[in-house]
Amino acid sequence: MAEPVTGLPSQVYTRSLACVHCGLCLSACPTYRVTGRETSSPRGRIYLMRGVAEGRIELGELLAEEAYLCLGCRACETACPSGVEFGAMLEETRAAVDEAGLRGGLQPRLERMILRQVVPHRRRLRLLIGLLALAQRTRIDRVASLLLPRSLRALLPEIPARADRRQPPERIPAEGEQRGRVAFLTGCVMPEIFGSVNAATLRVLSRNGFEVVVPRDQTCCGALQAHAGDLDFARGLARRNAAVFEAAGVDAIVVNSAGCGAAMRSAEHWIPGEGASYAGKVRDVCELLDEVGLRPLTHSIQGRLCYDDPCHLIHGQGVSAAPRRLLEQIDGIELVPHADASSCCGAAGTYNLTHREMSQQVLERKMDALAAADPDLIATGNPGCLMQLRAGVRLRGMRARVVHPVELLDQAYQNPHG
Ligand code: SF4
Ligand code: SF4
Repeated sequence: MAEPVTGLPSQVYTRSLACVHCGLCLSACPTYRVTGRETSSPRGRIYLMRGVAEGRIELGELLAEEAYLCLGCRACETACPSGVEFGAMLEETRAAVDEAGLRGGLQPRLERMILRQVVPHRRRLRLLIGLLALAQRTRIDRVASLLLPRSLRALLPEIPARADRRQPPERIPAEGEQRGRVAFLTGCVMPEIFGSVNAATLRVLSRNGFEVVVPRDQTCCGALQAHAGDLDFARGLARRNAAVFEAAGVDAIVVNSAGCGAAMRSAEHWIPGEGASYAGKVRDVCELLDEVGLRPLTHSIQGRLCYDDPCHLIHGQGVSAAPRRLLEQIDGIELVPHADASSCCGAAGTYNLTHREMSQQVLERKMDALAAADPDLIATGNPGCLMQLRAGVRLRGMRARVVHPVELLDQAYQNPHG
């Protein structure tokens, strides 16, 4: 088979050869389901990528539009019998589209600036979140948010009190007989908006016999940057984290954000050679607890619970049964299935900000399924999904509380709200 002539990196071409055009991925693709267009399906996008890689199609606006209309949810990978590595192809294509200057306007430049200059810099991010917290306390945000559409207003998270935005200690000892020593990725957004989820994760790990170290010089995982086409910058972040976490000398690197976990596991192909050992140690917190066996829970929680799979956990890391198995162990919880659990919620990094209409259409389908199941609780293990589903619940006027699975496990050990 001839090598590609022009347009996209040779890896995109090589990966595209695995596609046999069977179409089995089409019904799994949220953007195809909404539009019904072949070009907005996985098969159509692969066709475009291959055409560009072979020099038959110009690297132009159509591919640029489709590469960014794609949610990057990787549901097509799960559905594909040929093992097409769509996520990697998409990242490489987006990077080429950006390099070719095919995303004009202010928004991509602003997005890149924030993802490079703010998100990986803890102090700058803290300052920004602190200003948002001040605006919320003084109610200025209410006036400002009136200028936003309702769907965007619903997305704004409640910024926690300062005490809940502290960095965790550098070492948390294991309770009882030690079962391992792990490192914890705090994440960039997690400590600022979901500090309580991080605290719950550390307590549950400790309770389950893990000594946890939290390396201070870790950085952002690079997921958001790679999604936004800034793959080289993401590689730099992965390089630094690989060095920091390798130096920690731990059995596993535990992550409670599905998007971060999937990105860290991608280090194997982002930084070939350097990233394999780092990527191989990454474990989602539910995956690890399920592997070792959860120590007995002590308190019950009453309610009907829907578990919703984050795309980057089920499709990006192949983890779907473990969180359900853990949640089933909580006395009083009735795990109820819903019809759209493994589909994207429409959050997809910054997609719910950059492609609001499609994001809303994708969310609607999931909220229909959740409303039909009528749960008291919805559990999902990714910050973007937590925010998106909370927005969906608010917009629908539903009563369900949206939580991270590890918060329920923590509650079932300590019952802090009981
Ligand atoms: S990643 Fe998701 S949105 Fe993109 S082509 Fe695959 S299934 Fe469709
Ligand atoms: S990506 Fe996979 S499932 Fe989709 S058309 Fe190609 S071979 Fe078939």
